[in-house]
Amino acid sequence: MSAKNDQYQVLLYYQYVPIEDPEAFAEEHLSFCRELGLKGRILVAKEGINGTVSGTVAATEAYMEAMHEDPRFRDMPFKVDPHDGHAFKKLHVRPKKELVTFRVDKDLDPNKKSGKRLSPKEFYELLQRDDVLVIDGRNDYEYDLGHFKGAIRPEVKSFREFPEWIKKNLGDKKDKKIITYCTGGIRCEKLTAFMLEEGFKDVAQLDGGIVTYGKDPEVKGKDFEGKCFVFDERLSVPVNRVNETVVGRCYHCGGPTENYINCENTRCHKLHLCCSDCEEKYHGYCSESCEQEAQKKHA
Ligand SMILES: [Zn+2]
Ligand SMILES: [Zn+2]
Repeated sequence: MSAKNDQYQVLLYYQYVPIEDPEAFAEEHLSFCRELGLKGRILVAKEGINGTVSGTVAATEAYMEAMHEDPRFRDMPFKVDPHDGHAFKKLHVRPKKELVTFRVDKDLDPNKKSGKRLSPKEFYELLQRDDVLVIDGRNDYEYDLGHFKGAIRPEVKSFREFPEWIKKNLGDKKDKKIITYCTGGIRCEKLTAFMLEEGFKDVAQLDGGIVTYGKDPEVKGKDFEGKCFVFDERLSVPVNRVNETVVGRCYHCGGPTENYINCENTRCHKLHLCCSDCEEKYHGYCSESCEQEAQKKHA
């Protein structure tokens, strides 16, 4: 077997571009991805496509080539990570109303209005300044595993909570210079569009997100602390190749860890950082009451 058939890659990509009939597109795209043997999660909306898939090197290369032949996705950037095997169990291609659920009544089209795009180097330079506010455009549990030095931790459990959080916490910062970042860049497109609409004067976003920043040959992920949370079986990927640190803290003992687990109690299922000692001690439960409840059920 050639190397291209037993080595795997994970792709991360998005494109804001009009797709006329998302339902039909998704159906066709599903059979195309099935044929290639890809697994992962692809969302299709009238406003574009957002995907993360895994497959053999041969299959993922064929996929990228085919996508780039479509004029709508001709310039779509792919972030490519080598991986040993699939990073997903299944394949889903779903039509959705929005690529990232944001729930604001305004129509936000990143192709028309969005924050200035910063290269990794430009972002790094702004990160060093005291007069620049750095906003993490992800959820709190993603921040807790790793984030840029000095970034503000948003108190949000899902992206749709951002508009409220911004109005409440940043309303008096509209004249400040603000930079935002997320995993691959897609969330910042909406986030910065919203902020500009809200009257923020100077908002810029990290183009290609943390993943691109980590791959940049010049900045090499510098000043990203911890690891980057990803929504597949890997759960996290390394970013920083210069001054790496661990910022994750065990939910139980507070010790350093980057091990995310879900509470063993299926009714709780709480995602929490847990060191190996505490995972053993608490048997994978987030609390004693969760363990007791689970044991009662089995008694
Ligand atoms: Zn612990
Ligand atoms: Zn629990």
